Amino acid sequence: MDCSFPPQDYPLVKKMTEEEADDDWQKYASGGFGSTDLDLWSDLTVEMEEPDAEEEFAQLNTHLQEIPPAPAPDGLKHLVRIGICDHCLGRLGGRSTIGRELVEIGTSLRQQVIERDNDMADAREKEQWCPFCENLFAEAKVLATIILEGLKGHEFDRLQLGAQFPKDQTENEDHLRKRFGASGSAPLKSCLMDEITKNLKEMDSDIKLVNEKPEIMALIDLLTLNVSLDVRSHYIYGRYLKHERGIPQTRWPCRSCKGRGCKKCDNTGQQYQHSIQSLVGDPLLSIYDSHDHAFHGMGREDIDVRCMGRGRPFVIELKNPLRRKVDMNEVMATINDNSEGRIEVHAMRDSQRSEVVRVKETPAEKSYRICFQVKAKSDEEGSEDLNALKKSELESLCSEKGLKKSGTKAVLIERLNDAGTTSHDAASITALLEGMEGVTLKQRTPKRVAHRRADKIRERKVMEVSNIKVKMIDGVPQVEVDLRCESGTYVKETVHGDDGRTVPSVSGLLDAQCHVQWLDVADIHAD
Ligand SMILES: [Zn+2]
Ligand SMILES: [Zn+2]
Repeated sequence: MDCSFPPQDYPLVKKMTEEEADDDWQKYASGGFGSTDLDLWSDLTVEMEEPDAEEEFAQLNTHLQEIPPAPAPDGLKHLVRIGICDHCLGRLGGRSTIGRELVEIGTSLRQQVIERDNDMADAREKEQWCPFCENLFAEAKVLATIILEGLKGHEFDRLQLGAQFPKDQTENEDHLRKRFGASGSAPLKSCLMDEITKNLKEMDSDIKLVNEKPEIMALIDLLTLNVSLDVRSHYIYGRYLKHERGIPQTRWPCRSCKGRGCKKCDNTGQQYQHSIQSLVGDPLLSIYDSHDHAFHGMGREDIDVRCMGRGRPFVIELKNPLRRKVDMNEVMATINDNSEGRIEVHAMRDSQRSEVVRVKETPAEKSYRICFQVKAKSDEEGSEDLNALKKSELESLCSEKGLKKSGTKAVLIERLNDAGTTSHDAASITALLEGMEGVTLKQRTPKRVAHRRADKIRERKVMEVSNIKVKMIDGVPQVEVDLRCESGTYVKETVHGDDGRTVPSVSGLLDAQCHVQWLDVADIHAD
């Protein structure tokens, strides 16, 4: 029998790529050390050079059928004769293992067998290959060392162990254990993982092993004795304010080069120089020694919309971090300094994966501040008359109406056309806006998003209308108002009506055109 196993060199710890880790996440998420029953090798054919184990025992003992299982004395003797190791003898010998180590139980059982039959004293020298664990218990300390080596430099509180066994080995052990071991004997996998855990704790008493939600999963491949580390992302919750328009929430690859980097994007690969994600995430990469981030917002505002008030809740995910214990005040100060006033973060704290789902699925009721101009629907006739006038005549017409006289002829005509074209004054506009409070809107999918959203009619409520300000600028009412709306309300459409697709709308009620000048998220009423 070949006794060159195990290999004496420590195998290298390999780090999983992000893709592998993502793929594997679900498989191991529930696989605690000592409880991982998933067989990840089910499609792998392991070539067994050894002859079938039971056949071999049959050759050793022609009265195989008469051998009772442990803990019968003959059963124990048979286990010793076929080369069982002390750990496996402790596991299969039928003694209580509570509060005792397997190796200790096994040693004492072996001693009992030898006392009855001294021929068994050198059984382990004759048969050095334990047919139950294939000598894996002898590797427990080596594996613990490899794991600790791999973990060097990682900051973590929660480590979980997982193991991949070749399917054939598991099945074979199962079969042999049930035939020769005492009934109720613990399976190889859980005992081996306990043994590795025990060794880990002896080497590092601070190490904390968990059965769920690990920060690092150490996966032991028991065929090759390789250990791979699946370093889980670190999550941080916070809220961001966006002070500047023109910043998208997440990274947006350059349309010309699709992110590879070209002249148009100044080799950044990004369509926009900044995003909330990059402003928040990029400074964190060096702080956490991570190589990439993902951004999860509680909804998002359009690129030209600012976000004020308490800001928008988000969770940022740092992938493959070495560090996890960082002073959050330092983190926030770094982000805010680097963003040069474009954004501001606050309320940041450590979070976890489950909060990504919560943040993404919370329907956030929002307040918006929206600014729009009120103009008459159209007056083609008037403009033709004005076109016939000279510039000086237009200027005197402007002064008659109390309007500014500056600008080109076209500007003057537009000013005169807009001025006083709506009969609404500040009081009537204010009264109408106040009447929108509590109204349920019917909103057909807006034209501007119809290409990517299903065309349907949604009902959304305007919860509150406040802070109405109306200014007359060149005879044109300019309105600013706060609208608190149900999650998912199309706010610009609520004002301009989207050609009758949103009913009622401010535009429809005024029977006028409402030109939206800008929009801000005034606050997000969540968390
Ligand atoms: Zn063994
Ligand atoms: Zn580009």
